[in-house]
Amino acid sequence: LTARSLPSIQSDERLQPLLSHLSHSYVGPDYSVQKNPGKISLEQIDALSVKSFPLCMRQLHRALRDSHHLRHGGRMQYGLFLKGIGLTLEQALEFWKKEFIRGKVDADKFDKGYAYSIRHNYGKEGKRTDYTPYSCMKIIMSNPPSQGDYHGCPFRHSDPELLKQKLQSYRIPPSGITQILELVKGMHYQLACQKYFELTHDVDDIGFSLNHPNQYFTESQKLLSGGRELKKEFNNSGNFQQKNNSQESINSSSTPTSSNATADTELEGLEAYFTED
Ligand code: SF4
Repeated sequence: LTARSLPSIQSDERLQPLLSHLSHSYVGPDYSVQKNPGKISLEQIDALSVKSFPLCMRQLHRALRDSHHLRHGGRMQYGLFLKGIGLTLEQALEFWKKEFIRGKVDADKFDKGYAYSIRHNYGKEGKRTDYTPYSCMKIIMSNPPSQGDYHGCPFRHSDPELLKQKLQSYRIPPSGITQILELVKGMHYQLACQKYFELTHDVDDIGFSLNHPNQYFTESQKLLSGGRELKKEFNNSGNFQQKNNSQESINSSSTPTSSNATADTELEGLEAYFTED
């Protein structure tokens, strides 16, 4: 757009590739530096996935819990996100192993194969690169999911009808679903995600420009630590419900009811860690 509106820039061959590249680049924080390592316990992840994960990560978490496996694209996208929200390498190894050995992978196979790639993501193997959690732009623009994959951006890569059903199952109000689908139709995927944030956090204006799944998580935690009394929470049937500060509870279909109280207790005070820049 800039190039088109400024003829002198357009005619400068040196600037054209730069501008073209810039429009596809993510220039915000990369969330590669762990600010809160170990502050999240593995028991909190089910509740957090409902409360503070963007749809892409909520979908990956649900698929992992259901099938006890994720293919490479999903492991990379979700694993790096979890690293960005503070999971240590030791926690990540435990998290993935616990889930995978409930499926078709035995402990030995996990240790010999999958554990390597997790250590790799944390810069402990291979070139020892400390890998960066994926930005929205990267997720939306590259490596689209195939059949059996759960990575990608649901606003970009899901069939609109399936997206609609998913949003309905998450008790997003019909008017909100219509707005989200309109934004998706116009290819405004990140705006659709912002709308999802507003609807699930009961705010009129998200107050930031969404560029990164880890930014979504951090902003959600900041918001939930701020004016809790103003927020609507999911009640036990999954409906939105106005609650006061002391009554906060979360229900995840992936979390047995008996462990919700534990998860709630463990979430107490967690948001405070994410209020820091
Ligand atoms: Fe995830 Fe970004 Fe898509 Fe939202 S817009 S679902 S954060 S990739």
